[in-house]
Amino acid sequence: MSTKPTAKSVPDTAGTSQSRSRDAARRFARRLLAWWETHGREGLPWQNPRTPYRVWVSEIMLQQTQAGTVVPYFERFVARFGNVRTLAQADLDDVLHLWSGLGYYARARNLHRAAAIVMRDHDGTLPQDPAVLETLPGIGRSTAAAIVAQAHNVRAPILDANAKRVLARHFLVAGPPSSSATQTALWALADAVTPAGRAADYTQAVMDLGATVCRPRQPLCSQCPLRRTCGALAANAVGEYPARAKRPARPLKRRRFFVLTDGEGACYMEKRPTSGVWGGLWSPPEGDAEETPAEFLAARRMDAKLVGAMSFGPVFRHGFSHFDLDVAPVFIHLLSRPSSVSGGVWFNPRRDRLGLSAVAAKLVAAAAAPAVLERK
Ligand code: SF4
Repeated sequence: MSTKPTAKSVPDTAGTSQSRSRDAARRFARRLLAWWETHGREGLPWQNPRTPYRVWVSEIMLQQTQAGTVVPYFERFVARFGNVRTLAQADLDDVLHLWSGLGYYARARNLHRAAAIVMRDHDGTLPQDPAVLETLPGIGRSTAAAIVAQAHNVRAPILDANAKRVLARHFLVAGPPSSSATQTALWALADAVTPAGRAADYTQAVMDLGATVCRPRQPLCSQCPLRRTCGALAANAVGEYPARAKRPARPLKRRRFFVLTDGEGACYMEKRPTSGVWGGLWSPPEGDAEETPAEFLAARRMDAKLVGAMSFGPVFRHGFSHFDLDVAPVFIHLLSRPSSVSGGVWFNPRRDRLGLSAVAAKLVAAAAAPAVLERK
């Protein structure tokens, strides 16, 4: 049986307790905003200028990635695609190229598709109505709210991972994060504590508190502006909120990657299907873990006499959200490009731009400098 404290502070609908809840919600927002004025994160590139387009791009990048990692990607992205029009007109390969290494590439494909829809259906202007924004690919309820709140200062409750954690701890919401009852309770709380004014500041404040103080591990409760009213802190149960989802065991897969190089230092790359892992990105050909180089050459009708040198690289592990992949590389240096391989491109990393996954980029780098794979 659970010994967790119950959610005493969840707003209810009855008389005086309703007005107490309203007061608690106002205090929550007031303290958070006062803290943010002196401790909020400053200098994030999407804060200045805070245009709807820049906020949108940043919110998509921040969906699965921490701000510190996002900053250089964001800067390169908006330097190249400065507005919705240039993004909509861009080649998807160019978009994926600038996303290479950031992971979760469906975000980039959705951003690109959404830009085209904004050009076609909204005269190039990002909709201000969160309900309309939500119809665009890659934009969910919380992201839509975060965009309108920050870009237009419109009151719209958010419930990203940071806000969820702060609310679950402060108001003792204990249910499994994916259950609809928990989601409903958290959304109700998010709505209750979001103030009528200063929507942009409040949205930034709750995200900043979650990222820098109410962190997933080792939260800095002694520095928290909400510590006097925090239910989890009072119950000495901070580590129990939010409840952790039960994770199934992560499967481990193993795949062979054949890295073909020519005399000019170019690597043969194939485009992956748009759905699935690394969708739409370019990668060295992939095969079963047991596939031998001889089988690979035969399947591609490549003459073994073209092979100048061949070596097996060390296996390295790459983590995806739901499984781990052991990458087993084979480096095959060809004396000349075989006429029988087609459908892909010969990619010269010094000259060409393609969207590559972090694994593909590592394999390409290792083809020129094998020590890349020995570094931990
Ligand atoms: S007191 Fe601790 S657990 Fe509570 S909101 Fe602040 S940082 Fe989070």
